[in-house]
Amino acid sequence: MARTSVTRISCPNDACALHDRRGRGNVVLHGYSNTRWVRRRRYRCKECGRTFSSTTGTVYNRLQYSARRFDRVAALSVEGVNKSAIARLENIAWSTVARWIERAAAAAHRFNRSRTARVVLREIQLDEMRSFLVSKKRTTWVFAAIEVWSRLWPATVVGARNYRNTRELVTTVMHEGHPTGRTLITTDGFKYYGPAVRRTFGPACVLGQVIKRVRKDKIVTVGRKLVIGSEWKLEQALLESEDSNKLNTSFIERLNLTIRRGCSYLARKTPGHARRRGRLAEQLELFRCYYNFMRPHSSLPGNRTPAMQAGLATRRMRFRDIFAFRGRRSLFALARSRCQVSDGGVEQLRCAA
Ligand SMILES: [Zn+2]
Repeated sequence: MARTSVTRISCPNDACALHDRRGRGNVVLHGYSNTRWVRRRRYRCKECGRTFSSTTGTVYNRLQYSARRFDRVAALSVEGVNKSAIARLENIAWSTVARWIERAAAAAHRFNRSRTARVVLREIQLDEMRSFLVSKKRTTWVFAAIEVWSRLWPATVVGARNYRNTRELVTTVMHEGHPTGRTLITTDGFKYYGPAVRRTFGPACVLGQVIKRVRKDKIVTVGRKLVIGSEWKLEQALLESEDSNKLNTSFIERLNLTIRRGCSYLARKTPGHARRRGRLAEQLELFRCYYNFMRPHSSLPGNRTPAMQAGLATRRMRFRDIFAFRGRRSLFALARSRCQVSDGGVEQLRCAA
């Protein structure tokens, strides 16, 4: 049990006049609640009369097991361990693991959204990788973007490889930051990147494509094409880039590899493909939060995370920071709406938080 003094606890009821205000003397002790493994202190707010525990409104609310165990399940998941293996390792039911990951993903999503602070978009790379739902016959695609300077992964979209999803990826990146006027964007040769970028960024960017011809799993030729902007602007953007001296997609390809290793659904030659698109989107959202905020990036100095480099955080986050985070929306409201992510992919995940 957390040893919290009553002045440190605030009322989580957003309809209460003293909502989120500490040290007003309205919160008093109100016994304990016991589950199989843990005992949690309960509190009562004298202002509104509601009772709550220290975990009300967080992911840990009404958890039958300890918060530490919940964190461990999330940690295993982002290391690419599949749900069945987690259930065996932690000796809990598969359905519990699935429910926890769903909850963890909703919290990660809420945290991701709370920390978007208009990052400077110096250099962006976009790409899409192929995956499957149920069987190899149902292809689905994972679109991802990386801001090269900070290594931040600002957006991901799961779904068909079409204009709509390409546009969604590009607009999300645009929303997360602001272009410099000559933001360098590099993609592969997929036909919809040009129109999607032109529509979103207009002339405030340079778009180049790297077109690789592959024969028998080997790259035979690499072509480079300037799609938006002038040669002069491209040269200028490359001069300013600390990471690239010619058009390349290597940073997003490296990120794709990291994503494949961190999401069990995306492992190659696995029998454990996602059954539903929403499940895959969920796992990706949790992993994106981990990648941006918690995992030190090997190419950034001093154990920094991409979020620290981008100025979205001042320290490395732990799962506890993500899961105990209440956001602006109250915990009572959250408990009522029961964040559900079902077969609708990222869009529904977005609505959930
Ligand atoms: Zn209250």
